Amino acid sequence: MNLTDLSATALAKAIKNRETTSKEVTAAFIENIEKQNAGLKAFVSKEFETALQAAEDCDKRVAAGEKDLSLLFGVPVALKDNMCYEGTKVTCCSKILENFIAPYDATVVEKLKAAGMPILGKCNMDEFAMGSSTENSIYGPSLNPWNRERIPGGSSGGSAVAVASRMAPVSLGSDTGGSIRQPASCCGTVGLKPTYGRVSRYGLVAFASSLDQIGPFSRNIEDAAALLNVIAGYDPKDSTSIKTEVPDYSRFLNQSVKGMKIALPKEYLGKGGLSLDVSEAVKEAIAIYTKLGAEFGEVSLPHTEYCLATYYIIATAEASSNLARYDGVHYGYRNKNAKSLYEMYTSTRAEGFGDEVKRRIMLGTYVLSAGYYDAYYLKAQKVRTLIKRDFDKVFKDYDCILTPTAPTPAFKIGEKLADPIQMYLSDIFTISVNLAGIPGISIQGGFSREKLPIGIQLIGKPFMEGELFKLAHAYETATSWIKSRPPEAK
Ligand code: GLN
Repeated sequence: MNLTDLSATALAKAIKNRETTSKEVTAAFIENIEKQNAGLKAFVSKEFETALQAAEDCDKRVAAGEKDLSLLFGVPVALKDNMCYEGTKVTCCSKILENFIAPYDATVVEKLKAAGMPILGKCNMDEFAMGSSTENSIYGPSLNPWNRERIPGGSSGGSAVAVASRMAPVSLGSDTGGSIRQPASCCGTVGLKPTYGRVSRYGLVAFASSLDQIGPFSRNIEDAAALLNVIAGYDPKDSTSIKTEVPDYSRFLNQSVKGMKIALPKEYLGKGGLSLDVSEAVKEAIAIYTKLGAEFGEVSLPHTEYCLATYYIIATAEASSNLARYDGVHYGYRNKNAKSLYEMYTSTRAEGFGDEVKRRIMLGTYVLSAGYYDAYYLKAQKVRTLIKRDFDKVFKDYDCILTPTAPTPAFKIGEKLADPIQMYLSDIFTISVNLAGIPGISIQGGFSREKLPIGIQLIGKPFMEGELFKLAHAYETATSWIKSRPPEAK
């Protein structure tokens, strides 16, 4: 049995039962990275020595007979390159942070360390998490392991590729408008965006603070549930994290979904450039859930058509403010040849940021400027409330909402680069979930005729990630999609 084929929870069990060691497991994933990363570009930095050292420490604890080890004890993990891991580079795949070393650990990193999870390295992403294809990375795009002419999705593309190609058993990404769920859909993995406030954002480089949330990538639901248990919880260092109990998410696995009520929003089906393959996968998901005893009803989320516009006002406004700190003085890159302070600021930012990031900073600055604030930013905040209310209304009668994750399977590298609006439309089904602050999960829902994975999205009530795991696990058990794997990249 190849260790890298086992799920994260199975690996943890094998480590605890002394059938293998954390060091063997970590070394096996490192070997896979060495073999495949040149062909897939999932990792932008590798921390193998520290990972192996952490694995050895885990093995000593097992050998000493320590009890109460975490659910993922000894299992290695990969991080998106926008999370601080003390003493290592955190670049956000931007020139402006190219040589920036994290001065402290993000809360999620502290939690991974406390759970005994060796960190393999950092994964590729769109610059500052702005994008849907990983093409906006200074390191160049990650490639989709199912077809290397296709994008892996974004912005957490590298984290998705690492898990899909078995270079890591699980990984973390961040999701502001779809950046965990859309790459999960493109690469055929599980990807969860938790409720806003469920996971601490301390040490996550901010893109749009009222939307950003960290979440897990995995190859099955059990692993996603276990990893959420590791990273979730209140954190006094993040004032937006919420003090509410974190349930044991494994309790929601292997439960019946009989009688559960699933809503189908009419605005999400049949519109938004939905491909035939995706709409067939959704129909099949409905048929499977019906067989499992769930009940469906059509609903309306009437403000859906305003989601994209609202998001691109709020997200860019917050980004323009968050990215003001990269001025050549405090962080990262500085143009050292500038002749005045003003020139140093402007040339540092002009040289340090890529085109998409500049586009967002300009848009965000514009919607916040005097005279436009009321017309754009304030209006968008009001529409955001209406979007949230649409969901509240549906959740009075339903347990969950089912939609496609993305309108199409992974598109070709380069296909949407010249047209930002087309790129933005990749997140048409995921963005509303961030605006409403609620949880959403993308699960493997089959393949297109071109053998590309298709994701199904389940959206839940605030803090009801458990219900999503329940539904997702029932679907995973009733299908065999997760058994498929991409060819090895040489
Ligand atoms: N693709 C969306 C954007 O470009 C969402 C990104 C994200 O979730 N980080 O803003």
